Amino acid sequence: MKWDVIIIGAGAYGLMTAVFAARRGRKVLLLERNEQAGKKILISGGGRCNYTNLHTSSENFISDNPHFTRNILSRWRVQDTIDFFARYGIHPAEKTLGQLFPLSNKARDFRDGLLHEALTLGAEIHYGIRVKTVTPMSPGFEIRTEEGISFVSEKLVIATGGKSIPPLGATDFGLQLASSWGMKLIPDAPALVPFTAEKSEEEVCSTLSGLSVDAVARLGKTSFREAVLFTHKGWSGPAILQISSYWKQGDQVEIDCLPNWELSATILGTTPPVQWLSDKLPSRFLSRIAEEMPFIRKRPAEISRKDFQKLEQRLKHLNIHPSGTLGYAKAEVMRGGVDTRELIPQTLESKKVPGSYWGGEVIDVTGWLGGYNFQWAWACGVATGNVV
Ligand SMILES: Cc1cc2nc3c(=O)[nH]c(=O)nc-3n(C[C@H](O)[C@H](O)[C@H](O)COP(=O)(O)OP(=O)(O)OC[C@H]3O[C@@H](n4cnc5c(N)ncnc54)[C@H](O)[C@@H]3O)c2cc1C
Repeated sequence: MKWDVIIIGAGAYGLMTAVFAARRGRKVLLLERNEQAGKKILISGGGRCNYTNLHTSSENFISDNPHFTRNILSRWRVQDTIDFFARYGIHPAEKTLGQLFPLSNKARDFRDGLLHEALTLGAEIHYGIRVKTVTPMSPGFEIRTEEGISFVSEKLVIATGGKSIPPLGATDFGLQLASSWGMKLIPDAPALVPFTAEKSEEEVCSTLSGLSVDAVARLGKTSFREAVLFTHKGWSGPAILQISSYWKQGDQVEIDCLPNWELSATILGTTPPVQWLSDKLPSRFLSRIAEEMPFIRKRPAEISRKDFQKLEQRLKHLNIHPSGTLGYAKAEVMRGGVDTRELIPQTLESKKVPGSYWGGEVIDVTGWLGGYNFQWAWACGVATGNVV
């Protein structure tokens, strides 16, 4: 069975590549491990799919090779994504911070639209496939499956994604293959993932579990202002997920629970801090602080400067010491992956194994929370689909 293009993995990058390659008349085969395509698309954004972000730029991506994203992102912009999906009847609605969701609120529309177009243009898809070996020949590739089936193609696209959420079909297949072909990997780790608390901080987290505060989470020079959520095990919420992508074991994270507050405003006033804070912090959070620092019930004139500083430390510079993360079981994405220096920036073709193309989450480009990872996957799909 000979194909022009074989794509391993029918997620966001694989499906987009299939559409663009099939539009050029290429004979395309998608090989998918699951019994259906795009499982991560289906559950993304809580089933609504945050499919792009109006503010997308290279700054929103983490990579060991930070400028790599520029080429791909500049040739497939956010407006291109919006126009592309509008043809499937999917129209955008902005939530917060430039995040675009479909008006229909149905992630399924993306998966179904892409799959339908690819199949209509003649692409084929085989489900439940377990690829055993991939052998570069000159020219082309031979793919053998666990079931003993063999496929041959001229071009090969590795679209197997990252390692997060194994029950959705995630594997380290791409990483293993790259490594076996001598391609360099940037060490991977779970990203956009909740933190777990150390023993000493567990009790506070558990007491405040379920509470969310508008806060700034800061790690070195990087900071995000969004919600921080206390959980039974530690911390979560968008600000924490964002900062987790920059976190390494042992790092402490600073939380500013009152980003608009200045200590001087409270010292100079006459109202007890507890009253002043009551409309700024959730009551359970405030009660906990009042337990630790009963002086907040006094009038400012009766509170010592040292106590004010203690309060400021607690509210503006709360240092948390995550013991770890909830790992790939709960991570939205994988950080690290195939070193992008191994790839040609315009096409994502491997320099070491010409004819093979690598994009989406399997390569060392990790987007922030907010639709950036899909914008990256779509843009990669266009870049590859136009050349394979
Ligand atoms: C819970 C959750 C919510 C998310 N929400 C958003 C969001 O709202 N917005 C956003 O931008 N990003 C979101 N993401 C991230 C986004 O889903 C991914 O970054 C994106 O899907 C990556 O696309 P991909 O094609 O590289 O990989 P995937 O979409 O993961 O596709 C990889 C495909 O390859 C298949 N595969 C793996 N190994 C093999 C193998 N050996 N053989 C054959 N097939 C294989 C998998 O089954 C899968 O279908 C979310 C992720 C998660 C986990």
